[in-house]
Amino acid sequence: MVGLSKIVWVAFILAWGAIRFRYVHRARRNRKIEEHDRGYELALLTLTFLGYLGVPILYVTTRLLSFADYPLHTVMFVAGILANAGGLWLFWRSHADLGRNFSAKLVIREQHDLVTTGVYRFIRHPMYASFLLWSLGQLLLLPNWVTGLAGLFGFCVLYFPRIRREEQLMLGRFGDVYREYMSHTKRLVPYVH
Ligand code: SAH
Repeated sequence: MVGLSKIVWVAFILAWGAIRFRYVHRARRNRKIEEHDRGYELALLTLTFLGYLGVPILYVTTRLLSFADYPLHTVMFVAGILANAGGLWLFWRSHADLGRNFSAKLVIREQHDLVTTGVYRFIRHPMYASFLLWSLGQLLLLPNWVTGLAGLFGFCVLYFPRIRREEQLMLGRFGDVYREYMSHTKRLVPYVH
């Protein structure tokens, strides 16, 4: 079953990559006019990338991390598929709703609209919520402590150092309109947080 869960994880990663490739390509046509903390953001993104891709690839292709393996139960396998499927859906919808306003780093684009519809109607950071689901999926589908914790680390590194600065950037650009949007939405989980 571990072999199967590795194959499922690889299939999810390929789908994830296809979605990102498609939308990054689209957003590139909308020129950047403001970029914040580029070097710092690049460093954070590299660490995130290692947690979600580097460490799992090491786990899937070698035995180097086998000292930290734990057993995989059917319930974990099914729950992992559900978490990753939910994460992939949210990742796709947030890309589709954000459209040409998307950037992996902290950027304002030439034609930057504030998106408050689609999945952005309920939470301000659906893409980061999708990463959180993805971390849970990684923990459940790839039964290894180092690999599982690497995914959670990837989320923490992306989310905590960035969230306040990203919201400041949005407040600077959209002012009261963003403040009003903040007043009736949560960050990651509708009605909760
Ligand atoms: N934090 C959001 C977006 C991630 S992409 C999410 O988790 O879904 C990061 C870029 O999206 C930032 O550079 C910012 O410029 C832009 N952005 C964030 N929220 C936005 C919104 N509601 N409308 C338009 N652009 C937004």
